[in-house]
Amino acid sequence: MALIVQKFGGTSVGSAERIKNVAQRVARFHAQGHQLVVVVSAMSGETNRLIALAKEIQQTPDPRELDVVVSTGEQVTIGLLAMALKDIGIDARSYTGGQVRISTDSAFTKARILHIDDHAMRADLNKGRVVIVAGFQGVDDAGNITTLGRGGSDTTGVALAAALKADECQIYTDVDGVYSTDPRVVPEARKLDRITFEEMLELASSGSKVLQIRSVEFAGKYKVKLRVLSSFMDDPGEGTLITFEEDPNMEQAVISGIAFNRDEAKITVLGVPDKPGIAYQILGPVADANIDVDLIIQNVGRDGSTDFSFTVHRNEYQKAMKVLNDTVKPHIGAREVVGDDKIAKVAVVGVGMRSHVGVASTVFRTLAEEGINIQMISTSEIKISLVVDDKYMELAVRVLHRAFGLDGEPKAA
Ligand code: ADP
Ligand code: ASP
Ligand code: MG
Repeated sequence: MALIVQKFGGTSVGSAERIKNVAQRVARFHAQGHQLVVVVSAMSGETNRLIALAKEIQQTPDPRELDVVVSTGEQVTIGLLAMALKDIGIDARSYTGGQVRISTDSAFTKARILHIDDHAMRADLNKGRVVIVAGFQGVDDAGNITTLGRGGSDTTGVALAAALKADECQIYTDVDGVYSTDPRVVPEARKLDRITFEEMLELASSGSKVLQIRSVEFAGKYKVKLRVLSSFMDDPGEGTLITFEEDPNMEQAVISGIAFNRDEAKITVLGVPDKPGIAYQILGPVADANIDVDLIIQNVGRDGSTDFSFTVHRNEYQKAMKVLNDTVKPHIGAREVVGDDKIAKVAVVGVGMRSHVGVASTVFRTLAEEGINIQMISTSEIKISLVVDDKYMELAVRVLHRAFGLDGEPKAA
């Protein structure tokens, strides 16, 4: 008998029929004697619909009230799944984040889980009940409803698995595992049987939304056995296991995966005096405005001045431009601030990079052969990130995927 946390994403609970299908799957595990905690997302499209509705009322919705609105999506699915289970003779009970007491900080729309009370869940499990928990939501110290950021149900699943010391956390979704890149963009993408935690962290942080980054962080911190599987297959097989060690017996591919996103925008401050402290004078006010900065590049100075570029999230692009134009530019005496929000970031990830040379040159040659200009580059031990014009993003991903020998058989649509 094992304690298993199963998380079902939006498409997996996208209709009454899909919810009944989830109930059948849960029932099969229950019949095998396992204890089950089931985390569900809102029905697919529902969170987007609720956000759009909020924006019809208030252009920039009040964050506290937005969380009150969007958290209702998950509340619907927990109730429906509990009914579906009871209907087939399984004792089940639904819980909102607040009812479990998934305590978070008060950062509405992007709250972090601080503590999970496992008492009520354990009492139910000991009675043989299936526990159903709303993903994506929690409650702060003052009792306010909070949400964990888009894709946050993954994090609820892994955090519950950590709190309950579950034997495994299974993330059921609409693909049968983690692929070498998004199979919707590259049909030749390959399913990976295993991927290291470090690689999954880099892929998630660079845009692979198959797992929310915080869920991967939790899995790493608490060593949760995490697996991604399909809810659309009767026998989903082994899916993809996130491992904490590299398998010494496996021939390690140089590159495991490629991630991409259009979430960022690039800003360049031109004609900056080339002297100590300038990076701080530019990025200090940006940080003070609570804007996260990702890729940073400073050019070699010439004639006492230089150019300084960095990327920010696209949602914060206008705000960052305003801070730079209003305060930074006059303060440091820069010539001009220019920006571009039509960029994309592509990241090539693999622990094999540690032991192989020439990965960067393969990336650059491949893109050069397609005439794709690289606007920014940043590297870490297991990742090379590039900024390109967003109209070349998909092409860049496809040619890099092929260049690193990742193409498998195209999947039938
Ligand atoms: P859910 O609603 O189940 O949480 P998501 O839509 O959040 O599902 O995540 C699953 C999707 O992630 C897939 O349909 C796929 O298009 C996308 N995806 C992006 N990168 C990858 C990858 N490397 N492997 C698998 N899926 C990926
Ligand atoms: N329903 C939320 C979202 O769409 C959380 C999730 O699906 O993980 O982002
Ligand atoms: Mg998701």
